[in-house]
Formats: sequence, structure tokens, C-alpha cells
Amino acid sequence: MIYSAVWFATDHSFGFVVTALAICLVAGWLVAALMRKVAEVGPMRRSGWLAGTAVVAGLGVWTIHFIAMLGYRPDMMLGFAGNMTILSALAAILVVGLPLGLAPVFRSWRARALAGAVAGLGIGGMHYIGMAAIEGCRQTHSSSMNALAASIGGCSLALACALPPRLATSRVVCALFTLAVGGTHFVAIAGTTMGRVAEYDGLPHENITLSIFVAIGAGVLFLGAFLTILTAQRFEAQERAHSAVLRTALDNMSNGLIYLDGSHRVRLYNRRYLEIYGFTADTKLTGLTADQIIEHVGDHHGWSFERRDEARKRVDRWRGIENFTQIDYFMDDGRIMQVEIRPIEEGGSVITFDDVTKERESQRRIAELAFSDPLTKLANRRALNARLERDFFPKQRFKLLLIDLDRFKQVNDTYGHAVGDHLLVQVAERLTGIAGPDGFVARLGGDEMAVLVYGDQTQAMAVAAEVIAALAIPFGIGELTVSVGCSIGMCCTDDARDAVELMQFSDIALYESKRHGRGRTSCYTHGMLEMVSDRAQLETDMRTAIERGEMHLAYQPVVALADDRIIGYEALLRWDHPTLGSISPARFIPLAEETGQINPIGAWVLREACRQAAQLPGDVYVAVNVSPVQFRSPSLLSDLVQALAWSGLPARRLEIELTETAIVEDGRKIAQMLDAIRRLGVTVAMDDFGTGYSSLAHLRDLPLDRIKVDRSFVATAETDRHSKAVLEGITHIARALNVVIQAEGVETLSQLELMREIGFDAIQGYLIGRPQRLVDTDVPMALSA
Ligand code: C2E
Ligand code: CA
Ligand code: CA
Repeated sequence: MIYSAVWFATDHSFGFVVTALAICLVAGWLVAALMRKVAEVGPMRRSGWLAGTAVVAGLGVWTIHFIAMLGYRPDMMLGFAGNMTILSALAAILVVGLPLGLAPVFRSWRARALAGAVAGLGIGGMHYIGMAAIEGCRQTHSSSMNALAASIGGCSLALACALPPRLATSRVVCALFTLAVGGTHFVAIAGTTMGRVAEYDGLPHENITLSIFVAIGAGVLFLGAFLTILTAQRFEAQERAHSAVLRTALDNMSNGLIYLDGSHRVRLYNRRYLEIYGFTADTKLTGLTADQIIEHVGDHHGWSFERRDEARKRVDRWRGIENFTQIDYFMDDGRIMQVEIRPIEEGGSVITFDDVTKERESQRRIAELAFSDPLTKLANRRALNARLERDFFPKQRFKLLLIDLDRFKQVNDTYGHAVGDHLLVQVAERLTGIAGPDGFVARLGGDEMAVLVYGDQTQAMAVAAEVIAALAIPFGIGELTVSVGCSIGMCCTDDARDAVELMQFSDIALYESKRHGRGRTSCYTHGMLEMVSDRAQLETDMRTAIERGEMHLAYQPVVALADDRIIGYEALLRWDHPTLGSISPARFIPLAEETGQINPIGAWVLREACRQAAQLPGDVYVAVNVSPVQFRSPSLLSDLVQALAWSGLPARRLEIELTETAIVEDGRKIAQMLDAIRRLGVTVAMDDFGTGYSSLAHLRDLPLDRIKVDRSFVATAETDRHSKAVLEGITHIARALNVVIQAEGVETLSQLELMREIGFDAIQGYLIGRPQRLVDTDVPMALSA
């Protein structure tokens, strides 16, 4: 040590040593800064900084050595061989600078320490190449000092490189660098003895000039490096500020965001993304691949292999997406994420996650409300339509059963709407039970329901039969027991062109069921639509038929067999349709009864018959047919009174004809009604006797004036003993009850004779006269035969 100090004082020029140390410190600081840059920047920008570190560190070390050597032994005239000097500079860059530049690239501290050690030893190597370049002296080197010099250099730089970034501050690295360079140089020099050789003619002032140039060169180099670092740091500070803004913006987004680059590594993500997948806020994902993230998430949530595989496949699908795409992603915990995938031109994609669980839930609720019936919780009409549309194309074979409750209106009217509602709920339950978990049941409104049967005709008919049977079983609602029933209309997808037609056809079939007496199933058949539309047309036309004068009455005479004189006429309605011609009452009266039009038509018939009868000579009566619907209508009595009053026809000359169907129901009410009619003076005949219920009790209990035996008995009386026996029996009873007995449909003289023989009071039929208009005709008053 004492030796060193002495040597230092005597052999080195002080100025040079100070300059060398100053350069060493500057170089050390720059190298520390540059190495940090190499560690910080990404692989793309790393090479520039690495080369810079290599050059600055290498040339720094070389300059220090050179300046120190120039200041060494000023008493001796030393020269420098150009080639070797340049070689030593190159060696400095390659063996000192390069390892120092590379060291920060390594993640493991051992590798960094190794690179540092190489650089440290490199200082020694460069030192000896530099020494070899010195001319004009003889050199001997102490190997122990060499070893010491090498180990100072190697250890210092190994330490400087191996230190974790936290400890490797500029000061520490700079100090260790100075120690390595200075230590290596001065220890090695201390172990070096130089002797003068012959005469060397190098000039000291040349050395001074050289050293000034080297120092200036080093200064320029260092300044350049310094400015570069400074600019880079300022730029980075700006970038940091920008990225801080970006980070703040990202972390305050309500959506989760992740940016995967072209190689499918994470480039950017935000806090919300971490939250969505349940990561802690300090989880680092940058640089991880999508697969690594899946593993991460999988570990976090304890996913099975299959679950991970599924996630990988999904990410692969998302990766393949070429345009902006939105997907609803259902997470394992029930959350629904709206995932937006935006592919980026340079490759990769930005994926955002928006938690839309609440929105979807409310959308679902709204859809549920929009598509279900609030009372029965069944699907509603809209849902049925949607289902029909969905399943019609591509054609699935199914049948639509439209179900309409019979007598539901009565239940509502009698027990109130609350009971009606309970009934509907129970009906819905029974239907759902029959349809099963895969079946589809809907309520279309009111008491109309629908069931879809996916299967053939047999299955559909079986379901229909089951429904009819199930709804026929009485319903218990509180204390009440309520009975309804149902009618079903059915149509198969094969019969309809689309869902709308399917619905329409089922409706037509349902209408047919109801028309045919309810509690039954009708299948739509070809031609039904035409029938219905014809009927609809007829119905429309019928509304205006009277006012357009298309209807008139024809009269058929009734003859008393006692004196063969005409005692009255039956008024029969005729409709001359402008395009269809004459339409039989047998066809349009039932339609008028269905639609309720029979009431205004019936009232017109009464008035017209009374008006025309009033013009007839003598005491003949007119018989008017009154339909059951009309008979039940509260307006019949007033219609009768008005017709009589308006025409001036005496009431005894008016008779009404009722069929048994009109009087089967509530016997007491019927009797009261008949009494009221008869009190007006109007007589009552029972029409078509023998075809309907044919109850003898009716004859006994109801106040009647005439019984008209149906023409089917007359037609068969001559050939069929039973028919004749019935006619004889009825005649006896009528006689006993003091009721006039009349035969209809007498067409032949032999029939006439037979009726006379049996004891009929009166007859009617083509033999006597066909129904015809009264106007401009001589009304026959007696049998011409
Ligand atoms: P109905 O009351 O039994 O009328 C008798 C029907 O038998 C009439 O047919 C008449 O033309 C027909 N007829 C009469 N004599 C003979 C005969 O010797 N042989 C045959 N084969 N038939 C005969 P129409 O006029 O076609 O009337 C059919 C049904 O239409 C009537 O049957 C009646 O129930 C109903 N009807 C007719 N006019 C009215 C009306 O103004 N009001 C109501 N409510 N129903 C009416
Ligand atoms: Ca009649
Ligand atoms: Ca009749």
C-alpha cells in the first residue's frame, strides 16, 4: 500500500490521473444509465441501447487507460504503436462494453454476474493489449498483482451487474465501475516495472497533444451519450405521463379491456378486466399468452381440464373473428358479459367485457311479460305466433289444437269474474299436465287456449280426446263445483301454407265444432274454408236482403178435412239472392239463427204475414214459423203485438209454429211464454211433431192448439205399419187433449184418403198447393179435387 502510494505520487502525473478519474466517473455514470435503459426498453428498441452501452463503456475504459498511461512516467519518453492502440480500443468495446451491455438483458442474477465478471476481466485484457502498444520501454509484470488486478475488476463489475435493480443505483454502479477500472489499472501498473530502452525519439509534446485529442474525443463521445440519455429520459418521462393518463382512463373504465397483440400476448389490460375474472389488482398479465391466462383463470377458479379446453376453443374462435363482433358470453357464475371483439389491422385484437347481467335480466323479464299470459302463466298469443313461425319452416310436423271452453260465459255471468279466473287457471293446469314438459300450451285470450302436438293425426286426436275428457271433469273452486267443457278445432301443418293459415284453419275447424253442438273435435278439411267464406258472404248479404226487397213470403194452404175448405196458410220465407238465385230457408235460417239475425228477420216475417193475411177474404188464419232462438228472445211478444196492431189482423187469425227444440228446455218458463202468447189470442202449433224429442209429456203439459205431424210419417204411412200406428196413436191423443191434429207433406190422393181414414183434422202438402206468392193470384179457397 505504502509502495503504491509512493509509486502513485512519483510515477503518475497528477493532472492526468485527475482527468482519468473524472472521465472514469462520467463514464461510470453514463454506463449505469445506459445499462438501465437496456433493462427497461423492449426487445425491439434494445439493440441500439445495447450497442451504445458497449461503445460508451468500452471507449470509456480505453480512454481512462490511455490517459492514465499518457500520464505515467513522464520522465520516460514513451510511444504508442498505432495498430495495437486501435486493437486495444476494439478489445475494450468487445470484451468490456458488450458484456456490460448484455448483462441487464438476463433475468437471472447469476447470468448477469457472469457477464459482469467477463467485462471486469475484459478490463484487464484490454489493459495488457494497451500495455503491449507502448513502445520505448521494457516491461515486466508481477503475476500476483495481475491476478489481484483481474479479481478487482471481475468482482466489482460482477457485483455491479448482479445487484437487483433496486440496489443498482447510478452511484453504486458508477462507484463499482470506477473501482473496477481504476483498481485494475493502478494495481496492474503497480505490478509492472518499466525500463528504458536504447534511444527512443518520441516527443513528449506529441503525447500531450494526443492526450488532449483523446480527452476531447472522449468528451464528445460522453456528451453525445449524455444528451442521448437525457433526451431518452425526457421522452420517457413524457411517455410515462401519457401512459399514466392512459392507465387512469383504462382503470376507470366500466368495461373490462384486454389487448392481445398479433402473437396473442397481452399488451394492455385494465383493472376492471382483473376484477371480472377475479384477479387481485396487482396481478401482472402483460406478456402472457391467451393460453397462459386461461391457465391462470382456471387455477383461480379450479377449472377441470375440459373447462379449460372449452375456454381455449372459445378464445380460438374469438381469435378467428375478422370484423367487429358482439357476443353475449355466459360466465360460469351466471354473469352475462357482452363481449366486443375489435380486430386490429396490425394483428391481434382489443376485447372488451361489459357486464350486462342486469340488462339481460330485465330484457328477459320484459320478454316474459310480453310473451306470457299474466293470469295462467301460459304463453300468450304472441308467443304462440312466434312458436308457429319458428317451427313452420323448416317444416316440422305438428298440429295446432285450438280449444274453446263451452259455457264459460255462463260461469262468468253466474259466479263472477273471480271464479272465471280461477277456472281458467285450473284449465291451464290440466292442459299443461296433458301436454307434458315438452308440450306447448298457450292462452290466446278469454277462454281460448291452444296446444301444439308434435306428431301425427292419431297422436293429435288422442291428445284432443284427453283434453275433452279432462275439461269435462267438474272444477272445484272454493265451495263451488263448476262444470264446463270444450270444443276443439285442429289443423295440421300439412294442410296450411304458413303459420297464419294454420291459425285460420284451426279457427274454422273450431267454429265447426261449436256449430255441431260443442264438446267435440273437428279437423280442418279441404273446402271448409270455402264453406266458411260462403257462409260469411251469405251472412253479409242477408243483413241487407230485406231492405233490398230480396225476401218475400210464399203461402201454402191448409185444408180442413171436415169440409175440404182452406182454413189457413203457412207463410214460408223465400230469398231471391241476386247472384245465387233462390236460396232455401233450410239453408239460410240456421245461419240466421247462429248470427242472431233471425230476430229482425222473424219480426219482419210476422209483420209481412200479418199485413198480407189481413187482405185475405174470409176468416182464414196465417201460420208463421218461429225459430227456437226467436222464441227465447224477449222481444217476441212485443213483435207479435206490434205486427197485429200495425196490420189490424185479428189475433185469432194468427198462429205461430214452434218446433219441439224450442220448447225442450225450462218447461215452466216455456209454458208461461205460451200462455202469454195465447192470451193475446194467437194460437200455437207444434211443428214437425215426431222428429225432435217427441215427448208426449210436452203434449200434456204445454198449452197447444195444433199438432203438425212431420211429413216423414205421411210419406211412409202407406208402406210402414209402424208409421201408420204412430199416426193413429197421435190422433187419439190429440183428440183426447182437444188439440187439432194436422198432417204435413200430403202429396198424393191415396195419402189424403189415408189421413182422412185415420182421423186427421187438417192437411197440408203439394197435393193441395205448393207455397206461392199471394200477390196477383186467385187464392184458392177450397180443394179443387
Ligand atoms: P216447415 O215449417 O216444416 O215447412 C214446410 C216445408 O215443407 C216447406 O219447405 C214446404 O215447402 C215443404 N212442403 C210443403 N208441402 C210439401 C210436400 O207435399 N212435399 C214436400 N216434400 N215438401 C213440402 P221450405 O219452404 O223449404 O221450408 C223449410 C223450412 O224452413 C220450414 O219447414 C221451416 O222450418 C223453415 N222456415 C221457412 N220459413 C220460415 C220462416 O219464416 N221463419 C222460420 N223461423 N223458419 C222458416
Ligand atoms: Ca212449419
Ligand atoms: Ca213442418
